[in-house]
Amino acid sequence: MNTSGTVVLKKKKDKPVRQGHPWIFSGAIARVEGEVRNGDLVRVVSAKNHPLAIGYLNNNSQIRVRLLTWQAETIDDTFWQSRIAAAVERRRRLNIDATATRLIFGEADQLPGLIVDQYGDWLVMQCLTLGIDVRKEQIADALLAVTGARGIVERSDASVRRKEGLRKVTGVLRGEAPPAELEVVEHGLRFGVNLADGHKTGFYVDQRDNRALVAKLCAGKDVLNVFSYTGGFGVHAAAAGAKSVVNVDSSVEVLDLAERNFERNELTGEFIAADAFELLRHYRDEGQQFDVIVLDPPKFVNSQRDLKRAARGYKDINLLAFQLLRENGVLATFSCSGLVSADLYQKIVFGAVIDSGRNAQIIQQLTQAPDHPVLLTFPESFYLKGLLCRVW
Ligand code: SAH
Repeated sequence: MNTSGTVVLKKKKDKPVRQGHPWIFSGAIARVEGEVRNGDLVRVVSAKNHPLAIGYLNNNSQIRVRLLTWQAETIDDTFWQSRIAAAVERRRRLNIDATATRLIFGEADQLPGLIVDQYGDWLVMQCLTLGIDVRKEQIADALLAVTGARGIVERSDASVRRKEGLRKVTGVLRGEAPPAELEVVEHGLRFGVNLADGHKTGFYVDQRDNRALVAKLCAGKDVLNVFSYTGGFGVHAAAAGAKSVVNVDSSVEVLDLAERNFERNELTGEFIAADAFELLRHYRDEGQQFDVIVLDPPKFVNSQRDLKRAARGYKDINLLAFQLLRENGVLATFSCSGLVSADLYQKIVFGAVIDSGRNAQIIQQLTQAPDHPVLLTFPESFYLKGLLCRVW
């Protein structure tokens, strides 16, 4: 084993570790033995010195240790390669109908702190923790060996890195630079993706199946795609025969790409750069109505402190959507905030429907695509909640 020291847990704090939860918070630790620097590998033992697991440590984070393995093994090139190969193999078995997929979903693939998405021949890698950051070259080698990708783009620019004491790092990490607008195919539809500075790793891969599902309800309908980003739900809706598709986003840049994405698929749509809350209020005041509305806002909640304000935001936008829907209309409403539980989100949408004076039934509960799996021993990996509602 190539560990630098040992983390001894407090009494009765070993149960989550024994049950496979990959995080150890500062409060569970009695002491750290040995010369351990942040990012180093540590053995984790119970208060009675029973070996439990191996992980990497960071004293700058409330999550002191993230666990990599529950066996006595060496964390070397072979380890990373076999973990990565296993994650990639699990994706292959899903038979995903897209060239943009998540290959590695951090903790859910027992690779805490590491996100890797594949876009055609390129990989985009996010190192979210120090333990991954200091090993990124070794991990990049393993990724290339397993996938044979033409290049790896690093997008370590997520704000969570601050909690680890890390700054933002972006750029081509390995191989060739990708085209400025790389084309991917999702359920037969083409999308341009900007890997260098698009949101997240470039595309909201997690909404793939929800886009196709909602599209099935759009033939002949007037569709309002709110928080459209590069047009994902809108392109799918238009391709499925929507009568009209209005895409709304506050960013002009992403709407330009949305427009090109419609063109790529020989579809037409409308693109409006506006604050969603203001525009929907304006539509309501004008008496404008739609048959299908998609609400896919950005993460409103980053910490417990934001929760109340965010809940109000979710309620307001859902209330407006209910008010804008025609009789028997459809609302597809999402929250990607991990801190908002499915239960709480449903309560928020309930509050909105009451205030709107409408009736609605949930026709389907939606979630993240299967390449973003939820590890049973790490329920925190469940973050995307959606409700597909029929409204009258
Ligand atoms: N549905 C999209 C992803 C949406 S991401 C897809 O399938 O790809 C959320 C989007 O909301 C981002 O593009 C962001 O620019 C936009 N946004 C954030 N705040 C907004 C606001 N107040 N009004 C309109 N758009 C907003």
